[in-house]
Amino acid sequence: MSLNVLSVASEAVPLVKTGGLADVVGALPEALAAHGMAMTTMLPGYLAVTATLGKKPKVLHKWESLLGEPARLLAGKIGISSGEGHALLVLDAPGLFAREGGPYGDATGRDWADNWKRFAAFGRAAADVAGGAVKGLSFDLVHAHDWQAGMALAYQRFAPAGPVLPSVITIHNMAFQGHYGADLFPALGLPPQAMAIDGIEYHGGISFLKAGLASASRITTVSPSYAREIREPGFGMGLEGLIRARESEVSGIVNGIDAAVWNPASDPALKAPFTAKALGKRAANARALEAEFGLEKGDGPLFIVISRLTWQKGMDVLLEAADHLVGIGGRLALLGSGDAALESGFHAAAARHPGRIGVRIGYDEALSHRMLAGGDAILVPSRFEPCGLTQLYGLAYGCVPVVSRTGGLADTVIDANLAARLAGVATGVQFDGVRYQTLADALTRTVQLFREPAAWRRLQRAGMSADFSWGNSGKAYADLYKSLTVKP
Ligand code: ADP
Repeated sequence: MSLNVLSVASEAVPLVKTGGLADVVGALPEALAAHGMAMTTMLPGYLAVTATLGKKPKVLHKWESLLGEPARLLAGKIGISSGEGHALLVLDAPGLFAREGGPYGDATGRDWADNWKRFAAFGRAAADVAGGAVKGLSFDLVHAHDWQAGMALAYQRFAPAGPVLPSVITIHNMAFQGHYGADLFPALGLPPQAMAIDGIEYHGGISFLKAGLASASRITTVSPSYAREIREPGFGMGLEGLIRARESEVSGIVNGIDAAVWNPASDPALKAPFTAKALGKRAANARALEAEFGLEKGDGPLFIVISRLTWQKGMDVLLEAADHLVGIGGRLALLGSGDAALESGFHAAAARHPGRIGVRIGYDEALSHRMLAGGDAILVPSRFEPCGLTQLYGLAYGCVPVVSRTGGLADTVIDANLAARLAGVATGVQFDGVRYQTLADALTRTVQLFREPAAWRRLQRAGMSADFSWGNSGKAYADLYKSLTVKP
């Protein structure tokens, strides 16, 4: 059966990315095409997105007033590895999206004050598209991602433009929920019954994520462990009650990685491409990486970090453990940006340990590839991690993941305990609870493993042979869509 799916999201690789959400949304159309499904992606018309549509993009629809703003729906193509690309719809509303800065905030990182309007309008438009308001476009199912697309499902449910389609919402990170004051409700153009406990109301205000979770036919998140964890207050962040109430409709599907982009044998960013059979070639990448970060050669492991520098990612605890990491013979190359205090903290650690710690503040995709190829172990000490992608890249590149046992990290890395090592299935190091001592112990254990070269190579090879391509996950989404659209 061929299904037409409308995927609604605020970012997608290769057009606009702030995190793993974009990787997933960008990869889904190709992953679903393998199952005979056609996915159309709908994005807001940020400058970076409309710029890819050419001088005279095809206009599919016009709104005189979308929450007060004139808007158009433009047609385009999106694709990473596929030649032709997949169908793309862009909501061109210059008053809302055509501005310098990031997708959610200005260049200084401050959220846009009108984000409520930007993503409500985006949701209203997506609901219109799903409801058949645009001639020539018809869909069988809507897949919304995160709070920015949540309102699409609320508009479908409470103010439908046409038939209400089956829907899925995927939570990529429960920490971002889109909360606003109740005073905005009249501006949303929803009927009064939407402002209810089983609607968009949240503790007297409005929550865009809740709007989506309460309205979707099914809820998914990006790993089975995170799907369980968000039933609890520490992870559900206020929405655990809703998740528990809909428990039988919540499931976890681990993200895949795009094997065409993340393949050490053919990665154009690398000094020396390599395979699991020729791990010796990693040495040239390691030397290049040391030179790039001003690090000395050493006989201990070269740890890498590619991360947002935030509390979620446990970067404060890593900073505390930096002296220990160096003390046991490790070196650290860190690429990231985020909290100013963490950025300056890591700069200070690098100054304390010249030649042992190198820090690059910023976002650099090509450098992240070079780090995975030259580093020995990638550190992901997250306090919570819905799925996590960098540990999967680490596995693919023979850069052994050292991770906290939470969410997708728990589901994708097999700890090198004695039993797993004897069975030859271990792929990394896990530790429980993100605190100085647990992380310090994990670092020590990693250094000990590294000093047994044959055991370390087994870890690297087991990781490289693990399959985290989109094959399995694409099938899981395809099965879910089918289960929602097959008529009894
Ligand atoms: P999150 O979405 O919570 O930030 P994920 O691990 O799911 O975490 O995805 C992060 C994505 O962003 C990965 O593709 C990672 O490689 C990339 N990334 C994060 N920080 C940087 C950086 N400073 N430079 C390059 N890529 C980065």
